[in-house]
Amino acid sequence: MTGTARSGPARLAVELDRPGRHFGELFIPHSHDRSAYGRLSVPVIVVKGGAGPTLLATAGIHGDEYEGQMALLRAARELDPARLFGRVILVPVANPPAAEAGRRTSPIDGGNLARCFPGRADGSLTEQLAEGIHRLLLPLADALLDFHSGGSTLDYLSCAFGRLPADAGLASLTLEMMTAFGAPHTIVMTRPEASATLVSAALDRGIVAMATELAGGGGVTAASVALARQGLGNVLAHLGMLERADDEAVPTRLLGVGPNHFLRAPGRGLFEPAVMLGETVKAGQVAGWLWNAERPECAPEVLHLPADGIVVCRRVPANCARADVLLHLAEPATPDQLLSI
Ligand SMILES: [Zn+2]
Repeated sequence: MTGTARSGPARLAVELDRPGRHFGELFIPHSHDRSAYGRLSVPVIVVKGGAGPTLLATAGIHGDEYEGQMALLRAARELDPARLFGRVILVPVANPPAAEAGRRTSPIDGGNLARCFPGRADGSLTEQLAEGIHRLLLPLADALLDFHSGGSTLDYLSCAFGRLPADAGLASLTLEMMTAFGAPHTIVMTRPEASATLVSAALDRGIVAMATELAGGGGVTAASVALARQGLGNVLAHLGMLERADDEAVPTRLLGVGPNHFLRAPGRGLFEPAVMLGETVKAGQVAGWLWNAERPECAPEVLHLPADGIVVCRRVPANCARADVLLHLAEPATPDQLLSI
């Protein structure tokens, strides 16, 4: 946003500075058929303790990703301000229309909140929402933790997930926070660059920021929600905002994803995979078969893996169309390798 950009209609109504637990909202006027003077209301919870930094923790930017929503709803009730050094701003459901519909994007305008930042003051409702979060919440943050999962169409090896910014100091802090999250895997997407996400908007402002990809498939497991909860606690301890009895580093496996790690469908069909999530694979190995259900007389198309690596993400629906990502890989990497890309 430039200095001349005018502010959008979003407003923030929550206590920010008083110690304690405060429930409020970020809202945007939204007149629609069911509510002439309606609002899009995004719950915002502030838990403020003693002196310390501010962590902004967000979830539900995609409505069909649930681990973060549950972990932050729990944290909103259970984080103890008396034990906290600093302030946690919790946004458990950042895109309520998408969450209510159980969809990735908003059913109101089709907006993908993870592709809208820094938002538009005079844009669609989802763009106004991005503008509001960017203008009203992000400047308060010293660090951002944005929870995502695979959603309805993808299933991930649960991981801390992010991209490292060009600034070496910020990149190093980002990788440290990702590692501290304590997921079994820490995955750095080296290319293609993502833009217009909340994480990229935060990094552009010099705020250390990371995301997660916690399983997926449109549901949750006890393990995936527990990891979201533990990861939040680990990040708070890492930032010096919570004291923890055990401050041992949680082991995590560092992996990098490059542009050659994606297998896309060459056309419409039913994808039968030959490899499993978490499997170590070789370039050229059979990835699976693409069946044409309308042409039983035709042999399936054999698809091959594009690179060596570990299968870290798979498409959940077997039904696919041209260019859908069927799976993607990642390669083991050292911190120095990831920081030097
Ligand atoms: Zn997401």
